[in-house]
Amino acid sequence: METPDSTSDHTPAADYDIERIRADFPILGRLVHGFPLVYLDSAASSQKPYSVIQAVDAYYSEIHANVHRGAHELSIRATEAYEGAREVVADHIGAAPAEVIFVRGTTEAINLVAWTWGAAHVAEGDEILLTKMEHHSNMVPWQILAGRAGAVVKYVDVRPDGSLVMEDYDRLLSDRTCLVAVTHVSNTLGVVNPVAEIARKAREAGAVCLVDGAQAAPHMQVDVQAIGCDFYAFSGHKMLAPTGIGALWGRRELLEHMPPWQGGGEMISEVRLDGFTAAPLPHKLEAGTPNIAGAVGFAEAIRYLQRIGLERIHAWERDLTAYALDSLGAVEGLEIYGPKEDRVGVISFRYADIHAHDLATILDQKGVAIRAGHHCNQPLMNHLGVDATARASLYLYNTRSEIDALVDALGLAAKLFGVA
Ligand code: PLP
Repeated sequence: METPDSTSDHTPAADYDIERIRADFPILGRLVHGFPLVYLDSAASSQKPYSVIQAVDAYYSEIHANVHRGAHELSIRATEAYEGAREVVADHIGAAPAEVIFVRGTTEAINLVAWTWGAAHVAEGDEILLTKMEHHSNMVPWQILAGRAGAVVKYVDVRPDGSLVMEDYDRLLSDRTCLVAVTHVSNTLGVVNPVAEIARKAREAGAVCLVDGAQAAPHMQVDVQAIGCDFYAFSGHKMLAPTGIGALWGRRELLEHMPPWQGGGEMISEVRLDGFTAAPLPHKLEAGTPNIAGAVGFAEAIRYLQRIGLERIHAWERDLTAYALDSLGAVEGLEIYGPKEDRVGVISFRYADIHAHDLATILDQKGVAIRAGHHCNQPLMNHLGVDATARASLYLYNTRSEIDALVDALGLAAKLFGVA
């Protein structure tokens, strides 16, 4: 299959060649309800470039077999592909391969920590410190753990502009805090949190720090050593990879002492009738046949992002976000949530009295895909005093003219709802 790929020549272009990048994503060429697709829902899940689709295709077409312990050619090749993917992911975030556990995504990564590290280390009276802007995936697992262990969950407050009240963090952090779990970037407000400072203070207080990187890893270069956290969780599908694959990074000394999570094949070195010996890292925490094709696609997605360069992607998105904030800000009756600075292009808003769901449905008629609802952030919605927001989220393939299409489509909604 002859397909374009703006990154395949490996030459870093001086400019950001948006048309070539867009041409790498086959889905961006389709029509929706007769209009060119304007995809502004990448925070929920990103689209995939040809190179990722092809990597998965090639894996299944040429080398698929089950991994590990296979003596035949295909199994050896599949194992190399799977473990090679782990090296790519690990290298990308400044980690060692043994510290990277493949999981289904951020949700599974956080649950893994809660059910293994958490079950072993969190006791009655301990405190788990979260923030009010956490995604349900970084809230409910800790609530479940706290319920089982008799621990207490506390929440750092969020300012009206979307920033964390760091004085609140300082006040709530104590020697009773066993874990701090915080999102790197908010999936509703787009705000980038000071995770290195949060991790440093957690460490000084003797607490372990988990960072939810689901909305950060797609947009910025993540270095887990520089952040200084103990666990970092992220999802492949939000950063160009297939669904059903993600990574948990953990500090080796913590992972070493964590009991296995799920039991089964792959995670043992020996099983006897009276028990088992767990496999070394990372396999101890990966029971069963893994998502091999997903891992292969994940590695290719990271290579694709690296070929363009996360710095350049970040610069493009920064400009686009500023343009979107200005354009949407100029629409009378439209309220934007989240800060102007220190943010990514995840833009939540409400428009006059039009419910976010109605807005998303009307925009869809024009081919404009946005998300509406609580974005798995119900406590944050309550804090903001709203039940739902509309959310446009940008990624490396979006353009200013797509923002214009969004604003135009809002005009249609205004007409239908009689917004003056
Ligand atoms: N954390 C944040 C901040 C998110 O935005 C999301 C998904 O939207 C998740 C966690 C959960 O990610 P996944 O559904 O890929 O497990």
